[in-house]
Amino acid sequence: KSRRSEPKESDLEPLPIYHHKSKLVRAVKDSTFLVVTGETGCGKTTQLPQYLHEAGFCKKGKIGITQPRRVAAITVAQRVAQEMGYALGREVGYQVRFDDCTTEDTEVKYMTDGCLLREVLADPGLSQYSVVILDEVHERSLNTDILLGLLKKVFSNPDKANKGRRLPLKVVVMSATMETEKLSAFLGNCPVFVIPGRIFPVKCSFGSAVGPKETESTGYVKEVVKVALDVHTSEMAGDILVFLTGQNEIERACDMLYEKAETIDYRYDVHDRTVEGLLILPLYGSMPTDQQRQIFQPPPRGIRKCVVATNIAATSLTINGIKYIVDSGFVKQLNHNSRVGLDILEVVPISKSEAEQRAGRAGRTSAGKCFRIYNKEFWEKCMPEYTIPEIQRTSLTAVVLTLKCLGVHDVIRFPYLDSPEERFILEALKQLYQFDAIDRRGRVTKLGELMVEFPLHPGLTRAVLKASSYGCPDVMLPVAAMLSVENIFIRPGHPENQKEADQRHRALGSKSGGMNDFATLLSIFQLCKSSEKPSAWCKENWIHWRALKSAFSVETQLREILLRLQQRSDFPVESFDGNKNELFRRCLCAGYFTNVARRSIGKAFCTMDGHGSMVHIHPSSALFENEKDLDWVMFHDVLVTSKVYIRTVCPIRYEWVKDLLPKLHEVDVYELSNVARE
Ligand code: ADP
Ligand code: MG
Repeated sequence: KSRRSEPKESDLEPLPIYHHKSKLVRAVKDSTFLVVTGETGCGKTTQLPQYLHEAGFCKKGKIGITQPRRVAAITVAQRVAQEMGYALGREVGYQVRFDDCTTEDTEVKYMTDGCLLREVLADPGLSQYSVVILDEVHERSLNTDILLGLLKKVFSNPDKANKGRRLPLKVVVMSATMETEKLSAFLGNCPVFVIPGRIFPVKCSFGSAVGPKETESTGYVKEVVKVALDVHTSEMAGDILVFLTGQNEIERACDMLYEKAETIDYRYDVHDRTVEGLLILPLYGSMPTDQQRQIFQPPPRGIRKCVVATNIAATSLTINGIKYIVDSGFVKQLNHNSRVGLDILEVVPISKSEAEQRAGRAGRTSAGKCFRIYNKEFWEKCMPEYTIPEIQRTSLTAVVLTLKCLGVHDVIRFPYLDSPEERFILEALKQLYQFDAIDRRGRVTKLGELMVEFPLHPGLTRAVLKASSYGCPDVMLPVAAMLSVENIFIRPGHPENQKEADQRHRALGSKSGGMNDFATLLSIFQLCKSSEKPSAWCKENWIHWRALKSAFSVETQLREILLRLQQRSDFPVESFDGNKNELFRRCLCAGYFTNVARRSIGKAFCTMDGHGSMVHIHPSSALFENEKDLDWVMFHDVLVTSKVYIRTVCPIRYEWVKDLLPKLHEVDVYELSNVARE
């Protein structure tokens, strides 16, 4: 093994955590639970696992480190493998949904919190691990919060929990900012280890572009571009970090920046004469990882780096050399929308604490500046003090099923760090009942036990299982895979190309019989797969080849899960007589009857889930122009802008959902609430 004795630091100064190495290792050894806190960038995520590895923690088990974000898990694993002098995927590996880069011999494993939750399901004592580190706990992601509760429940009685283990499990909870006292109190007043850090002052200024009335505007993209260019031309050398919300606008901002930067005359326009160019780099979750490497490298001499990122750069990944922040004031967040009754990705104002966190990124190595594009009134009126934990704002359906399968029957009195509202828990129970995943007494059904095995939304899982019970999973597995990957369709910005892309996409739709967006996904999957040159086929049809490659891999993995479940003797078998097209749509109905709408007045549809919201078909749907001919439709998801749009739509017949729809109103939530407390 070519392990280096000490990790080489790219910084000249050693990381703050370095001085606490032996005390930290001691602290982990000394108690079951330990809270570790320290400024972002002090070395928690990349160094602590290495210290524990060196101290011999991997002799009788693995070190597992969770991350709320997929990219963070991958990027950090790459970095740590490199620092330790190992090839990624061997001693150091990562696992995220649908992408497992580990082997039997992996000793240090970075993974998403969702992956560890799945492992708990298979092995509640986590017997393979000697240490589990829950990282980025301050982010308060749903899965991390649930893991905290589960580990507390199991390991509060360490003598009992560690019985039969080769080594007692150590649980480390790491957080950049969060109230550590609260965490420690939650974990039985466990010790807290503070890594003192140094942070330089950051001067913050407010802008004038965004005020309380602009909360829904998208003008902030233009504004951040303008401010970033101002910084580039008028401020001294030092890199810029711009916070935006998502891939599309980040790409748009980068294009705009690039165009404008071309016109700069460095002899006259730029204040600091040592600055001779601008390097523009996007950073978002679904970015190819090879592109990400550049983000961390120092720019060439004389060149200023400008990273345009999502919130991932707030705490999950630390970029060195940042001196200036441009803060849009917005973030993309999954929220339960009570108007529509569904979880929706929305662009919302960040919290004040989040804004402070963003600003802090400029003060790591020297004094910095933060330019907020919003005004003081926006700060006071629109930005909440703290970010609401995910558990209090999204659907709990999948998590409640997981808890039930783990034998946590009383999901209301589960030890939550912050409890979700009871109505959210009841809503989850109701939906699980509607999917036949639990019975009236709140017990997991046979079907529920099958459903929990799939890392998919329960509705989609239901459709997959229905198709499988009819003996034709081949129609639904590709659909599930296609709905699990992002960005299938290329949407060129240029109007000329856009027209051609639209035409191609519509042609693909009509090949599958038209008028059904799910069938279009299936047909793209099949056509590409059977094509002799799939990448060329994608190019021709304005489809992202990378997305399709992922979809192929996801489909294989879903198929493996299914094959394993079909070994069970009680796997459901049903027969169907009718044509294939009807069978396909009926399977979809089994999972999506909660997302059914009927046309009401004009072009509007009315949802049938009791909310009775008015929705419209999104222009990207093949059904967009034919909405007048439709009566009943079913949809995959919802997009809220000025109107509520439904995307990925399929026409259905009332008879197919007639027997299912009453289920939406059948159970009494009070009954379920009593059951939940039993
Ligand atoms: P923390 O978890 O405490 O926020 P990290 O362990 O993530 O800190 O980061 C410690 C240091 O390592 C930071 O200075 C960061 O910039 C650097 N670093 C982390 N990942 C990479 C990477 N992929 N490439 C280069 N430097 C990195
Ligand atoms: Mg970290």
